[in-house]
Amino acid sequence: MRIGMGYDVHRLTEGRDLILGGVSVPFEKGLLGHSDADVVVHAIMDALLGAAALGDIGQHFPDTDPQYKGISSILLLKHVGMLLQEHGFTIGNIDATIIAQRPKLAPYRPAMVKNVADALGISEDQVCIKATTEEGLGFTGRQEGIAAQAITLLV
Ligand code: MG
Repeated sequence: MRIGMGYDVHRLTEGRDLILGGVSVPFEKGLLGHSDADVVVHAIMDALLGAAALGDIGQHFPDTDPQYKGISSILLLKHVGMLLQEHGFTIGNIDATIIAQRPKLAPYRPAMVKNVADALGISEDQVCIKATTEEGLGFTGRQEGIAAQAITLLV
């Protein structure tokens, strides 16, 4: 068994869609990034790559590469799933937390879990995506950005 962790932050900005776990969440701002800036999927990919000692998403999907501009991070996650398969790993479970002051994310969590599970070909009970605020403190509290953490177990 191997464990991996991932962490990511993206800045909130006007004029972008807010994509979290492959779900377009209605909000007045979105996350800035080269891809769709899906911060929780990025954290999950880094956890998976980390557990497999396969580097990080910056290495696999450089943000200088035009082919990844605006790309759905769920597609990148599928690619990471295939890489894990090629290296003989199966996923035990994934646990992730989104850290955002707003919007309320609870209604979207089941759809996020389904998107992640489907992309990786695993069951929904192997994926947990939670959400928390930081009580108005720090950059997430000031709604300057959204952070995400993920941990995973590979078998
Ligand atoms: Mg990122």
